[in-house]
Order: sequence, then structure tokens, then C-alpha cells
Amino acid sequence: MNLKDKLQNKIFSIVGQTADFHEVEVFVIGGWVRDIFLNRASDDIDFAVHGSGIELAKNVSKKFKGSKFSFFKNFGTAMVSAKIDGKEYKLEFVGTRKESYRRNSRKPIVEDGSIADDQNRRDFTINALAINLNSNHFGELIDPFNGIKDIENKIIRTPLEPAITFSDDPLRMVRAIRFACQLNFEIEENTFEALKSQNSRIEIVSQERITDEINKILMSKKPSKGFILLEKSGILKKILPELTELKGVETIGKDSHKDNFYHTLQVVDNISEHTENLWLRWAALLHDIAKPATKKYIKKVGWTFHGHEFFGAKMVPKIFLKMKLPSHEEMHYVEKLVNLHLRPISLVEDKVTDSAVRRLLFEAGNDIDDLMTLCHADITSKNEKKVNKFHKNFEIVKQKLIEIEEHDKLRNWQPPISGEIIIDTFNIRPSKEVGDIKNHIREAILDGKLENDFNSAYQFMLKIGNEMGLIAKKEK
Ligand code: ATP
Ligand code: MG
Repeated sequence: MNLKDKLQNKIFSIVGQTADFHEVEVFVIGGWVRDIFLNRASDDIDFAVHGSGIELAKNVSKKFKGSKFSFFKNFGTAMVSAKIDGKEYKLEFVGTRKESYRRNSRKPIVEDGSIADDQNRRDFTINALAINLNSNHFGELIDPFNGIKDIENKIIRTPLEPAITFSDDPLRMVRAIRFACQLNFEIEENTFEALKSQNSRIEIVSQERITDEINKILMSKKPSKGFILLEKSGILKKILPELTELKGVETIGKDSHKDNFYHTLQVVDNISEHTENLWLRWAALLHDIAKPATKKYIKKVGWTFHGHEFFGAKMVPKIFLKMKLPSHEEMHYVEKLVNLHLRPISLVEDKVTDSAVRRLLFEAGNDIDDLMTLCHADITSKNEKKVNKFHKNFEIVKQKLIEIEEHDKLRNWQPPISGEIIIDTFNIRPSKEVGDIKNHIREAILDGKLENDFNSAYQFMLKIGNEMGLIAKKEK
């Protein structure tokens, strides 16, 4: 097959000509080639060089004004970042190589090899496609494993025996699932069988590499597909057992609870239609994580999961630590959303009082919109009537939030009286009393008993202080 028309970007002719001049063979290979057949544009382009990848990259870099060149001598890889016709590209060059793995070591022996050797060490047939860029073979596709056919049939398959490909680098098992999920492909039967039988090997892979792939699954259009495959392969139990714990339905008498694993995945799919925020998607994945730990059957009431939002929030830091996810802002954000995820809907169940809405606005702060998105995604039921009712109530809460926010401006709100003012007014030291007075003022405003302005709050402070036996300094 000749693909000249796909290679019109001048990058390819320049790389090819530079390689000709230095008498090395060069191929564009991997994800970029796969993606042209999938009509996915990509600015990351990998080149395999039969010869020194670093040397070729250096010479290519000279052809693009303002480009940046960097390399890793130990890996024999080099990168060129360049702006070409107004677009940023990342070009990666690596020498074609042969990898052989020994039974007793995870580190392969890496030697120079042919393009065929290099294709053998790739993870999937669809990722092993290469196109020659030298002028005498420009545009010729090298597809030793029928990768094109697998793209057409939407199949993920390893180029060699799957047991060998997976045992050489067990991360490839998770990558198989990630690509199946991202591209909406199916994993070929033998490949999936090998994945199941080798699932415990995932334990030797570094957490960072696994988490990278999990994040890519979460950022797919329909993440549930990836998590279902992770579960079916037995890998999920090894890497995130808290999620597999959600599986299953228990029945006592006529009472069954829903399967919280599939419910969670439905919520993740729902939210993925509304946000590209990875952390909001994590919040959806973990929102019910403490349901197994809090599950109880109470006669005449049925199944309950009291406090699962609170215990769930407490589980978030442990899971983030284990997954090597960020431990600051992002983690606290997920904790907070898990903790508050029932609140908007509980507003519906009671009568929606202004003070309850005010309190929620105060606690959620800037994350109120994300919380509402999560809450909306959380409405899943087979019963259409129930879903409609929930959606209607949800709109009522949303409207109320808008009205109260407009009136009270509670987002990022700080009560009008600070600790310093209290200390100064009563001439006291920083102490528990100061905190008590501050809390009283905040609560009174949130309850709607006190106007949200300085003068009202100041008078209220004097009154509370007096009741506590404090004496205000003479007013200036
Ligand atoms: P994307 O970047 O869109 O996620 P990609 O296919 O480009 O997809 P990368 O992780 O960037 O994936 O890897 C580039 C290429 O390197 C792959 O297409 C594949 O040929 C090869 N590759 C990457 N990781 C592995 C691996 N663990 N084992 C074998 N080959 C791999
Ligand atoms: Mg890539």
C-alpha cells in the first residue's frame, strides 16, 4: 500500500531527505500511523531509525527554525519539538531495536535490530504499523501482522503470542484494555485469555505507569467499557480492589439493593458526557466507594448505607496515595465532592429551605457547579418515573441555588466579622471564645437570622460577647 497522500506534511519529506543524506533508513511508526487510519489527528509522531536516532534527530532539528532538541543517551531516544506551519509538533526518534527478555529479570537486553525486530517488540498489531520515509520507498506501508485488517475489524491483538508479549511487559495488559476502551475495539479472544491468566503479573509494574493508563481509561468517551474489562480480566482486583468490592446484589426477603459497581460506572459514563475534568471523573468513580463498608439491612426500612459519603471521603486519601495520584488540591477536591455528593438531592427530600441551600453554597464554594454535575450524573434508575421525578426536583434545587447565590453571594464567602475585630473589640487574646463568637455569627447568617452585612454582624457580635461576659472597649 502506498500512502503518499497521507504524508503531505513537510515534516515527512524533510525527515526522509535528511535520512537519505546521512544514509540511514527511517520510518514513521506506532500511534501516529494507526491514527491516520482512524481519522484521529495527532501531533506526537514517532520515528524509528535504522541507525542512530539521536544523530538523525539532531540533523532534523537543524532544518526547523526555533525547534528544540533533547535526548536521552541511555535510551537512545531523542526529541524534537517544533512549530511547523503554526502547529506544535513533538517528534520522537529512536533507533530500531530488538528486545529480548530473560525469565529471571524484568529488564530486557536491548540490541540494535531491523525494523522487523522493532515491530516485533510493539504491543499490538495496530501499533506496529510503519511507513518508510526514504525517497526510494517513500510512503510504503510495512504491516507484518495485518494491523490494517485489525483496525478495520476493530480488534486489539498482540503481534506475537499474547503470553509472550504480556510477560515481557505486563503493563501491556492494561494498555490492551485502555485501547479497547478509547477506540471502542474488542480484545481478540486469545489475547484476552492470556490477559486473564497473567493478571497477577501486573503487580510487578510500577504504579505510575498503571495509573497513567487508568487516567486514560477515565478520560475516554465511555470509561465503563474499560472498567468492565479490567474487572472481567481480574486486573481490577489487583490494582483497585475497593472498586470490585462494589460488585454484587444482596437480597433479603423482597429487598435487594442495586449493584453499586455498575451503578458507579453508569455515573462515570454520565458525567463523562458533561466534563473533561479528570478529577470530577475520579469523584464519580469514588462517590459510593464506602457503600460496602457501611451497608446494613434494617427491618422495615431495607438496605441502608448510612454515612457512606463521609467514610468514602475518608477513603479518598488512601486510594490517592496508593495510586500515586496528586496529594494536594486535586485530592481535596475529590474528597470534598464525595463528602457532599448526597447533599443537593437531600435538599429535595426535605422541604428546600433557604438556609439549607445557603449552607450547601457555603460548604461547596467554587465547586458547587461540579457538585451539581456529579449529583445529576448520580441519578440512575431503571424506573423512568423515578428518574423523571429526580430530574424535576434537581431543577428546583438548581433554580434555588441560582436565586440564593445572586442574592447572598455566598461563593467564597467570608463572614463579615474577622477574628481580629473580635480580639480588638473585646481586648482579649486569641482564644476559644473568639472562635465561638465567629461561629455564632456565621451560623446566624447561614440560617438567615442575621443580615449578611458588617453593621448587623457587629451589633450581633457585641450582644453575644456580652452574653459571654465580655466587655467591649469604648467605641471609638
Ligand atoms: P497515545 O499516545 O495516543 O496514547 P500511542 O499508541 O502513541 O497512543 P504511546 O504510549 O505514545 O501510545 O506509545 C507509542 C508507540 O510505542 C505505541 O504505538 C507502540 O507501538 C509503542 N509502545 C508504547 N508502549 C509500549 C509497550 N509497553 N510495549 C510495547 N510497545 C509499546
Ligand atoms: Mg503517543
